[in-house]
Amino acid sequence: MKSTLQTTDPAVFKIIQRETERQEFGLEMIPSENYVSEAVLEANGSVLTNKYAEGLPGKRYYGGCHVVDEIEDLARERCKQLFGCEFVNVQPHSGATANQAAYESVVSFGDTVMGMRLDQGGHLTHGSPVNFSGRNYKIVAYGVRQSDQQVDPDEVRSLALQHRPKLIIVGASAYPRRFDFAMFRKVADEVGAILLADIAHYAGLVAAGAYPSPIQHCDIVTTTTHKTLRGPRSGIIMAREAHAKAINKSVFPGLQGGPHMHTIAAKAVAFGEALRPEFKDYARRIIENAQTLAAELQRLGFTIVSGGTDSHLLLVDLRPADITGKDAEKALDAVGITVNKNTIPFDPQPPTVCSGIRMGTPALTTRGMNQADMKSIASFIREAIDARGQENKLNSVRDKVRSLSSRYPLYRDRLVRE
Ligand SMILES: *Cc1c(COP(=O)(O)O)cnc(C)c1O
Repeated sequence: MKSTLQTTDPAVFKIIQRETERQEFGLEMIPSENYVSEAVLEANGSVLTNKYAEGLPGKRYYGGCHVVDEIEDLARERCKQLFGCEFVNVQPHSGATANQAAYESVVSFGDTVMGMRLDQGGHLTHGSPVNFSGRNYKIVAYGVRQSDQQVDPDEVRSLALQHRPKLIIVGASAYPRRFDFAMFRKVADEVGAILLADIAHYAGLVAAGAYPSPIQHCDIVTTTTHKTLRGPRSGIIMAREAHAKAINKSVFPGLQGGPHMHTIAAKAVAFGEALRPEFKDYARRIIENAQTLAAELQRLGFTIVSGGTDSHLLLVDLRPADITGKDAEKALDAVGITVNKNTIPFDPQPPTVCSGIRMGTPALTTRGMNQADMKSIASFIREAIDARGQENKLNSVRDKVRSLSSRYPLYRDRLVRE
């Protein structure tokens, strides 16, 4: 591939080359990551980055917006078609920003908000004390049951009745199971709360019909676009028409300045890809791969939180394997398998150490990997964890990882051989 950077800025070029190589020859198993298409990369790297377009299509604060207006309209139309939502704002720069804007459109400083505990699967923006959400609102947190590590409807309902939150958030970053959005709707109605689903992790699966859709049950639905949805790093807010005005205002001028039109173009491309029939098959294979990986890891002696998965991700409880999440992350990194340490429900370890690792299959499935590959990967994971600290054995696992990933070319044309 022709590169300008290679001659104008070799320092940056070389770093990008090394990262391309890392992605090409490693096994990316962080469930929030994915590999976007060349088409998404092209739109994201386009001249649309040059354009200021504060405001909304047809109502901008800058001249010269008639062309970029079309890209934002296209992104909005495709998104509505994809998720079946009444309204969408495609301008949020990221998932966290989408959540902040969504909060600000419906609750005020000091209001009570209910969300899932961070250490049991929730996201920082669902009420963590180190985040704006925990600082600005009174947070009530629900978790999972000790018995099966799944959300307990009775706990959700009794906490809601006791604290009468103005906003209830359903969604997570490390919850492998299906959320019962209808149950959350019932509880929200009982206490007169607004219901927001944050489907950052599940969005691609939802779009493809492989995971339940919250759209008909929720007032507002936020998501990132770069996880299972396989678009550029960004966010969107979908909602019922009644919230449209407030959401538009809280995104701009409430929180952001000019929208990133190049990213919006890349979102339009990703939505277009997700509307194709192949994407349904992709989402189905993501889950099939995650379930095969979970079953195979169990067969090899690992404990899977909640006993399995209904989605793209799984959590391994490493306590029986006698290794911490931190050390397992390191051992796997050493062989080219990228995961992240994660707390498991009721984790005895602090979040800097963790008793678990979280892994997912969206990126591997994008490469075309299948159930047989998942079985191989489970065995690589077993071997790497058992061989931690033993350089020779780790080297041999690293070779196997590299040879598997080499069979599934990704961005091969972007690698320049010197
Ligand atoms: C990833 C994630 C976010 C935040 O997205 P960023 O783009 O990293 O800001 C928000 N909510 C949930 C549930 C997530 O998993």
